[in-house]
Amino acid sequence: MVDEGVKEETLSKSQKKRLAKARAKARAKELNGRVWAKAKLSVGRESRLVSKDKVGKGAVLWATNEYYLSILYSNFCSTYCGSCYRELGASPRWVCKACGCFSLCQKCDREEAKRWHEHECKLFCGVPRGMRQGDTDYLRFVCRFFSICTHGPPPTCLPGSRLTSPTKELDEIFKLRCQEGGGRAGQFLDCLATNKELQSEDFRSWCSNFAQLFKQHVEFPKGYEVGDLCDLLMRIRTNGLGFPCDDKHGTLGWSLDLYASFLDHSCSPNCEVVMDDGGKLLVRTLSDVPAGGQLLITYVDVKSRTPQERKDHLFDLYRFRCSCERCKRGE
Ligand SMILES: [Zn+2]
Ligand SMILES: [Zn+2]
Ligand SMILES: [Zn+2]
Repeated sequence: MVDEGVKEETLSKSQKKRLAKARAKARAKELNGRVWAKAKLSVGRESRLVSKDKVGKGAVLWATNEYYLSILYSNFCSTYCGSCYRELGASPRWVCKACGCFSLCQKCDREEAKRWHEHECKLFCGVPRGMRQGDTDYLRFVCRFFSICTHGPPPTCLPGSRLTSPTKELDEIFKLRCQEGGGRAGQFLDCLATNKELQSEDFRSWCSNFAQLFKQHVEFPKGYEVGDLCDLLMRIRTNGLGFPCDDKHGTLGWSLDLYASFLDHSCSPNCEVVMDDGGKLLVRTLSDVPAGGQLLITYVDVKSRTPQERKDHLFDLYRFRCSCERCKRGE
């Protein structure tokens, strides 16, 4: 244990060195754990993700390899591992013959991983061919969610998609929000906003058609009806996070994470979501953040768009009109 209360100025040079070493070791140990948080949710219905302490640029505030739910975008399904989300490259791989959109790298190529995928694959293959063609992002997201609800999370040897709350603090907040919002207790997704009134008519009717068609072909998990699936689709759109990701292609897919999905948007963000070498989801600061300061990421590529294009894009995709400082200045 590292004594945080120790007065550093009273220490000798060698003592300071030892303390710094012990702190670094403790931090590394924490990061090797499944969940590590220096960010917290502010209490209330409109919870925001804030920093617990004052932190400098480049600090990791939230790290986990147990994000709630994630998938690769359709165009990365055959070039990235569906389990650890690393690029497959030229090394041998396993590709699911049934759906054709789930691959495993050499390291993740295990029987238990394939058996786990079989459940979601059966749902996917059960829908009409037309639904399985082209962009299958929403479809695979829903299949994964339903499969985990019914058959459980991926084996512990694989990262991601646990559908459980990793901290007591989150449990408390979700209970509170579920009570307020009338959602099913313990069901984290019910806490996320659907922005139903703000969604476009086109998207609303697309969700409704999707849910009805899905219901005709697939068995729903207990407690789920067409309306719930409709809400789920809207939640994915409203709260989906650009993760997994890498330096080469940027965003590789979508995920919902217990903490990170609460990150709001700013066109001059103080945080970013990145993936570390071990496949962990990290929330990292881009500038200094005061204790209790709201953590903000950008939902758009700010550099490649004019202010107006940026505003339109945010409204089209996320249904809000950005009023951050940068937008107010028209930059
Ligand atoms: Zn892998
Ligand atoms: Zn498959
Ligand atoms: Zn803005």
